Amino acid sequence: MNKTARQALTLCKRIVIKVGTSTIMYPNGTVNLQRLEKLAFVLSDLRNQGKEVILVSSGAVGVGLHRLKLLEAPKTIPEQQAVASVGQSELMNLYSSFFFNYGQVIGQVLMTRDIVDFPESRLNAINTFEQLLMKKVIPIVNENDTVAVDELDHETKFGDNDQLSAIVAGITEADLLIMLSDIDGFYDRNPNEDKKAQLFHEVHHITPELFALAGGVGSKFGTGGMITKLNAAEHILERSGQMVLANGEDPTVIFNIIAGEDIGTLFTAKQAN
Ligand code: GLU
Repeated sequence: MNKTARQALTLCKRIVIKVGTSTIMYPNGTVNLQRLEKLAFVLSDLRNQGKEVILVSSGAVGVGLHRLKLLEAPKTIPEQQAVASVGQSELMNLYSSFFFNYGQVIGQVLMTRDIVDFPESRLNAINTFEQLLMKKVIPIVNENDTVAVDELDHETKFGDNDQLSAIVAGITEADLLIMLSDIDGFYDRNPNEDKKAQLFHEVHHITPELFALAGGVGSKFGTGGMITKLNAAEHILERSGQMVLANGEDPTVIFNIIAGEDIGTLFTAKQAN
């Protein structure tokens, strides 16, 4: 293990944490309150330690489906956006009460690709994050699903929240992105299908070979899949940032990661000495 790189994580001050829908919801479509509560506890404690934390949370569509008692996502875009609208406020309501219990204030940040394409929008977003963090508020970010569109000449959609979290980590110059998923890290094969699958403890470069492993048959492990995780990692490495991909089953794993323990896959440009 590259001890230096892992130990360097103990020094991280500004941390972005990304959770996917599969982390905060049960497979039966209801909200995993235990996880949300633990996540709020961990992030609040980090805030108390003096760390600056930003949460990127999916779940608007998932929670919206549950709230509207729908068994599956509707097919049309207006319907999907309506579901996201219901779910996003419900999700924030839940976060708000859990974080309130731990004495923290949260702020909702809904983003579109404008922050990538328009410097002025980017600057406004950066300034908002800075203000929130200065005021010790925990920003909770999601894509603005109700306005995001994915058209040829007018693209405001990020595509996925893995990408969004990497962009947020980039514009806020975060020291670390922790991506919590339903898998222990990045494997050379699908660990659910092959017991011999090996975990990459550390990755320094995102190569076409890694993309081939991530895109192989049956390797869409999580909801977002491994390709989107690698895309995010590539974005992070381009700006010499660091990212840890780990299992979000128990959100207290965040403490272990920041303590420099060998958990999940660390994507870092730093080589072992
Ligand atoms: N913004 C979507 C939601 O909150 C999720 C997108 C994603 O997870 O990639 O439901």
